[in-house]
Amino acid sequence: MMKNFPVEKFESLDTPFYYYDVNLLKETLSAVASEAAKYDGFHVHYAIKANFNPRLLRVVAESGIGADCVSGGEVLAAIAAGIPASKVVFAGVGKTDKEIAASLDAGIFCFNVESLPEIEAIEALAAERGVVAQIAIRVNPNVAAHTHANITTGLAENKFGVNYEQLNDVIDCVEAKEHLKLVGLHFHIGSQILDINDFVALCDKVNELQRMLKETRGLVLPNINVGGGLGVRYDAPDEYPVPDFAHYFETYAKCLHRYEGQQVHFELGRSIVAQCGSLITRVTYVKKGTRKQFVIVDAGMNDLLRPALYGAHHNIENLSSSAVEETYDVVGPVCESSDVFDKDIQLPETRRGDFLAMRTAGAYGEAMAFGYNCRALPGAVFSDEI
Ligand SMILES: *Cc1c(COP(=O)(O)O)cnc(C)c1O
Repeated sequence: MMKNFPVEKFESLDTPFYYYDVNLLKETLSAVASEAAKYDGFHVHYAIKANFNPRLLRVVAESGIGADCVSGGEVLAAIAAGIPASKVVFAGVGKTDKEIAASLDAGIFCFNVESLPEIEAIEALAAERGVVAQIAIRVNPNVAAHTHANITTGLAENKFGVNYEQLNDVIDCVEAKEHLKLVGLHFHIGSQILDINDFVALCDKVNELQRMLKETRGLVLPNINVGGGLGVRYDAPDEYPVPDFAHYFETYAKCLHRYEGQQVHFELGRSIVAQCGSLITRVTYVKKGTRKQFVIVDAGMNDLLRPALYGAHHNIENLSSSAVEETYDVVGPVCESSDVFDKDIQLPETRRGDFLAMRTAGAYGEAMAFGYNCRALPGAVFSDEI
């Protein structure tokens, strides 16, 4: 279990820090690229918001996959890391003029648009520059992904995308613009999806919508972007280090009806980077309460927010002890009652100074870190650099 962590090298490092297993990252990238390559016209874009560490982004760029961005900063980070602008897609409900302008100047592949006023803004900025922007319309397919309420995005009540009732007006609007070219439809139903039937349900919706658009307006678009959301096994990082990309792409190949020449785009974030990262923290104190024992670590909710934000679970391992197990709550030092990583878990008897690893923390971990309580941001250590 501890073989993957060079604990003796951690001794001289400041904690907490994210530790990235570069071999596992590369293995995962090569799996996602080779499984997608089995199908003609499948393209993978890494969803940068899962982890935008510049070193990690360079490894992603080397794999040859594209990028999915949700801010102008991410568009620039993708390009700076070496991902060609021609493989960058840009989604988000609130793209500002500045972000749109920078993306037009960079020459990104496509804007995934989410509203009529956004279309007007992109048209105006593209006209100023005398360029034509490629547009995909983000459609809200009203599919309920079986995941946490805060990370489903494809329901009619979410802020994302265009609802079916408005879709024809939005298509008309894009088609009427001189500096916009409608090139696709975009969907994204949520994150941490482990039930493959949710993706089958999305395919059914996309098929039905494509049939309707073809019948009612003779419209067939060259690109279908089905978003991301493939989940990872937080409960079993060593048994499932690389997600089952083969089954994922096979499902789309089987269930998504493609018209001739149609390209299919995927935006995977979590499934590419989650398992390669762990948050390494040291035990500051072990405190005995009346009914509980608390392991107080030097990482807090500001370093890894997911447990406090979504009640998310990360396996926690003691890298320094193999003594008999006891029951602990593992908590951070931040002045918030929600600064708890896990409750009533079994760990080998734990002492001050022990190293703990919070596993499966490569996605939405470092990327969500913040400086509350004047705390320094966590460091990042790559396995091939120490
Ligand atoms: C966050 C996001 C993704 C990636 O989601 P994962 O669950 O990390 O795969 C893909 N597309 C869009 C539009 C997103 O906002």
